[in-house]
Amino acid sequence: MPGMDTIHTVTGTCTPAELGRTLVHEHILVGYPGWHMDALAPRFRRDDARARAVEMMHRLQAHGVETFLDPCPMDLGRDVEFMAEVSQASGMRVICTTGAYFEEQGETYTFRNLPVEDIAAIYEKEISEGIGETGIRAGLIKIATGEGRVSEYERKLLQAAARAARRCDVPLISHTQEGTCGPDQIEIVTAEGVPAHRLLVGHSDGIDDPAYHRQIVGGGAYIGFDRLGIETILPDDVRVKNIASLVRDGHARHICLSHDSVCNWLGRPILGPGVIVDDPEAMVARAMPDWNPTHLFERIFPKLRDAGVPDDVLTTITDENPARWFSGGEAP
Ligand SMILES: [Zn+2]
Repeated sequence: MPGMDTIHTVTGTCTPAELGRTLVHEHILVGYPGWHMDALAPRFRRDDARARAVEMMHRLQAHGVETFLDPCPMDLGRDVEFMAEVSQASGMRVICTTGAYFEEQGETYTFRNLPVEDIAAIYEKEISEGIGETGIRAGLIKIATGEGRVSEYERKLLQAAARAARRCDVPLISHTQEGTCGPDQIEIVTAEGVPAHRLLVGHSDGIDDPAYHRQIVGGGAYIGFDRLGIETILPDDVRVKNIASLVRDGHARHICLSHDSVCNWLGRPILGPGVIVDDPEAMVARAMPDWNPTHLFERIFPKLRDAGVPDDVLTTITDENPARWFSGGEAP
């Protein structure tokens, strides 16, 4: 069984102290549910995609990144063997998750009809035995909620995830929509006996609301400013302002930074009714040119230093916080 001192990676195990500089939320490969039905999409070329991901890992290693956490839920094209291939070819440590996406964008039929204990048992199996026949174990559990309210489906999955996290002693990482429902996530998982400091409330930079951010750190959870470069949601300068403000108020030990970048797509990204991205690379270059996983080190670190965040605090955020979150023994 995993435990506080052993983290499962896609190629083996490590300890929290070995994680080093960590990006907590990035993706090697993503496909929205039903991507395989989109026969109009360009063919997925596995070798090209792998080479692209390995090249990205080498660029991150040049910035000192040692661990890449890809919290792809089961229903978003998760391919842990592909992750292992990329990890082996690049030398980057990669950690994958079990867990499912939020109701609106997930693949919901089976889990909607399974009882909460079955879902918890499925998550536990993926953590303690492995995913499918691969033998690759999930290192933690992904939870997700939609915008503004937690649906019954999502509540059940959060409860299942919390039970599995408690039994297997692994952390939880979340998706939120537009910076909502973070406090609900904390409430649901702590009600199942999981301490708030085992949860990283992701995408909390989806809203420019300092009071919301303080509800999350005040609730004892880690807070993800993990969509750096997605300026179609909010400008990075707003994120930098809010990060610097949390640091000034003494909350640096709660903050995790990442981009939610996507290195390769299965099918065409579909962003809403009729909003189909035929060429993701061209779309990113046009609409959010800074959305790549080295952006933190190249453009955000200098902005944070200018905003008064010292280097040792940046090291706390990128190197120490992920290790403390995984080790679980200590609240931030
Ligand atoms: Zn993501």
